[in-house]
Amino acid sequence: IEEKELEIRDLMDELPVKIIKILKEIGAIADKSQIRAYLIGGIIRDLLLGKGNNDIDIVVDGNPVELIKQLSDFFSAKVLYNEQFKTGSIKFADGLNIDLAGTRRENYHYPGALPEVTETNIFEDLFRRDYTINALAVALNSDKWGRMIDYFGGQKDLAEKKLRALHRFSFLDDPTRVIRGIRLASRLKFDFEKETEDLAREAVLAGDFSRLTSERIIKELELLFAEKINRRLLGLIKNIPVFKLLGIELAEGVDYWQQSTRLESWLEYLKEKNYNIEEWVLRLALFTDKLKKKDIVDWNLKERYKDILSFYLTARDLIETLDNDLDDLRLVDMLNEYKLEELVILLVKSGKVMVEKNIRRYINELKGIELAISGFDLKELGLNPGPVYKDIFDRVYRARLKGEVSTHQEELAYVKELLKERME
Ligand code: ATP
Repeated sequence: IEEKELEIRDLMDELPVKIIKILKEIGAIADKSQIRAYLIGGIIRDLLLGKGNNDIDIVVDGNPVELIKQLSDFFSAKVLYNEQFKTGSIKFADGLNIDLAGTRRENYHYPGALPEVTETNIFEDLFRRDYTINALAVALNSDKWGRMIDYFGGQKDLAEKKLRALHRFSFLDDPTRVIRGIRLASRLKFDFEKETEDLAREAVLAGDFSRLTSERIIKELELLFAEKINRRLLGLIKNIPVFKLLGIELAEGVDYWQQSTRLESWLEYLKEKNYNIEEWVLRLALFTDKLKKKDIVDWNLKERYKDILSFYLTARDLIETLDNDLDDLRLVDMLNEYKLEELVILLVKSGKVMVEKNIRRYINELKGIELAISGFDLKELGLNPGPVYKDIFDRVYRARLKGEVSTHQEELAYVKELLKERME
């Protein structure tokens, strides 16, 4: 394969001054150590696209340890070093991150395995990458500063907005690349090149990934769904059934575009109201209508997320009951045991006006009500902490809903009344 070098010094000048300074320093240290250092990956892709990116990925064709050490001394920054993989990362307080590694080849012993890593040259290091647009490198040594290496036509694919895999076994080696591709395509508004899309679909449908861990897939899904859902993403998911990697079957006849638009506007609304909500799980939950909790007991995932993902299938009766005129008390009784995320799933998925109206009322008017009295007041009244506190708070809460009390004084008087009744 012919090495194609292109001069992009001028473009490099457009990087933020701080980043240029770091890259020049890396070049200088590499000069001294007589190794070659390259900037690679997403930052070059984004530079060529005119987009900002604060993740600096560096590879050197040699041992990166010395470079990592000298850099962290130079910037007095903290370094994380992984002895086994010979990789390091430096994090700056302002969010800037530098990853450093030696050029390496990856051998996959079975589909979806974690690769065996061996040292190699820059060509093979680029060849192990996911897409041609991510397989560009720019030299940082002073004699070659700003020269871009493009073995696989990455620049052309960038111009044509295409995602192209580097070889036909790419997705069998590592199917998480399919999800990375969907994330990139959806974010950058790119298309999969035809053959690449076919390979991705075939790999997902026919590959044996029994030894691929759910953890790795979920990690990529978490990144995918950290970003808003758009039409392109839905189209891709339809053509390349990535959820199969987790054994998830999509439900038939669901209008995902309608549901995701509703979800996005709810997420925005709840964020405005300062609710802390797990956006990526909710976006993923759009696609898990048929998921049972017992299907995912083995997943290495927070219990809370498992509940959310498997919630919808269990919610049929709840939806039916919510499809009625309900008074405040009834509504609170029904809904206070559910997580906000679960309520959002009902809002988005039930498709029933009455259900939506009830949940909206609960979230907007009833859920946030806080009592004026606290445990401190009950203690003052001589009550020992215990289940009785919850009983009392419930009663006061009900009185609040009925409008019988509203101020601290009234709530306190109400408690005293309750206690008197109890004594009698
Ligand atoms: P983002 O902008 O989302 O951070 P990125 O391309 O910078 O995207 P990283 O996860 O930081 O993504 O990865 C850095 C580089 O490492 C990528 O550009 C790609 O070349 C390579 N890479 C990452 N994951 C894989 C993978 N699973 N298979 C092959 N190459 C990968």
